[in-house]
Amino acid sequence: MSGSFAVVDPSIGEAFTEVAMASAAEVDRAVGRAVRAQARWAALAPLDRARLLRRFAAVVDARGEELAALEVRNSGHPVDGARWEAGHVRDVLEYFSAAPERLIGKQIPVAGGIDVTFHEPLGVVGVIVPWNFPMTIAAWGFAPALAAGNAVVLKPAEWTPLTALRLAELALEAGLPDGLLQAVPGTGAVAGEALVRHPDVAKVVFTGSTATGSRVMALAAEQVKPVTLELGGKSANLVFADADLDAAAAAAPGAVFDNAGQDCCARSRILVERSVLDAFLERLEPAVRAWRVGDPRQEGVQMGPLVSAAHRDRVASFLDGRTPLMRGSAPDGPGFWFAPAVVLPEAPDDRLLSEEVFGPVVAVQAFEGEAEGVALANATRYGLSGSIWTRDLGRGLRVSRAVRSGALSVNSNSSVRYTTPFGGMKRSGIGRELGPDAPLHFTDEKNVFYATGDPA
Ligand code: NAD
Repeated sequence: MSGSFAVVDPSIGEAFTEVAMASAAEVDRAVGRAVRAQARWAALAPLDRARLLRRFAAVVDARGEELAALEVRNSGHPVDGARWEAGHVRDVLEYFSAAPERLIGKQIPVAGGIDVTFHEPLGVVGVIVPWNFPMTIAAWGFAPALAAGNAVVLKPAEWTPLTALRLAELALEAGLPDGLLQAVPGTGAVAGEALVRHPDVAKVVFTGSTATGSRVMALAAEQVKPVTLELGGKSANLVFADADLDAAAAAAPGAVFDNAGQDCCARSRILVERSVLDAFLERLEPAVRAWRVGDPRQEGVQMGPLVSAAHRDRVASFLDGRTPLMRGSAPDGPGFWFAPAVVLPEAPDDRLLSEEVFGPVVAVQAFEGEAEGVALANATRYGLSGSIWTRDLGRGLRVSRAVRSGALSVNSNSSVRYTTPFGGMKRSGIGRELGPDAPLHFTDEKNVFYATGDPA
């Protein structure tokens, strides 16, 4: 063990349990168990692997309330959202349970024989996740990886290890081989790096900050190890003058204040065509005031606390020396509360326009015309998500092609569906998760030529 970490309920700011932090030696033992489990798993018939994944989904479904309650307590997520997250883990497992029987190779016409391709599992996959959506992001990694025949060692974030630990137990309860899905809580520097550096870890799926992702990629490069990186964002919510302003304004708070803004897809910049700026702000104000911040255990609450005191202080630093244009409400302490804020930055180099806040603070900017709107949306090193609000179908299509982001929506703020690919451009990451191709990203394509003695 490398010591322990206090697990805190962010809605009251009090520790309620401790979790041991894995040492490098423990990560090594977990990877050893995973290697053995993977061999057993890959030897099962595809239908049996599919059945076990469906059973895992059923166990997660049966334990949905328990998982949701753990997430409410550990992460401060409102209970409605946490229930959705537990259901999403179930759905992701069900969706990818079809993959073992559908990883179909090719038969390629060649001279002198038969050529066949196989999608072979990589072996052991390391999945490193952040604290903002601990169970859903873990499932995006482990479900397709397991479905493709791999074992997974999952490293949760220090602050939020509980649902990852519980999901690994539920995998065992469902009958998956012992060691196939293990959670190793620990620090990034010790357990995270030990996992990335381990020679028997064939691939790393990392979700977290761009700085850490860059470090993970550099470590993985030493062993020419593939990585999927899901990193930060500074996404734009583009509202054109011809948009349904009522709909755009009503949806805007959810697009950035959901999960207290601790969302890589948060539309933390609202770009509004200047001719409708005032009309849009008039509609936004009541929506911001109506945003319900409070006890995450209460149904109907839309936003809980931030994850930690340190994170709340970092978010608060973005408001130093300024008066927000609009401010929602939040309970007084104890707990890591922060009232949502809408800011109109004046300087084009304002840090609110370039840095990821990862909290409930949104910057509003005006633009003139489509070209400037697109240019502002792209004026960021990130490229994760974004929205375009317009009634002009042609504009919706044009602008969605012109904005350099991996997950865009038109007249909607949704980014994630497990049936569609998700991931970032530019510094928001490399590779895609979810969608029909995700299991393929956890395989090597092997080509075999069988000589048949025919004339070449
Ligand atoms: P973080 O980078 O600090 O940590 C993420 C994970 O990496 C944690 O488990 C941490 O322990 C581990 N880690 C830290 N240092 C490491 C190292 N040297 N080697 C290996 N692992 C290490 O990020 P965070 O603060 O937990 O999460 C917030 C960030 O995550 C934000 O930037 C957010 O945008 C991003 N994020 C991205 C997505 C996406 O899908 N693109 C989703 C959620 C969050």
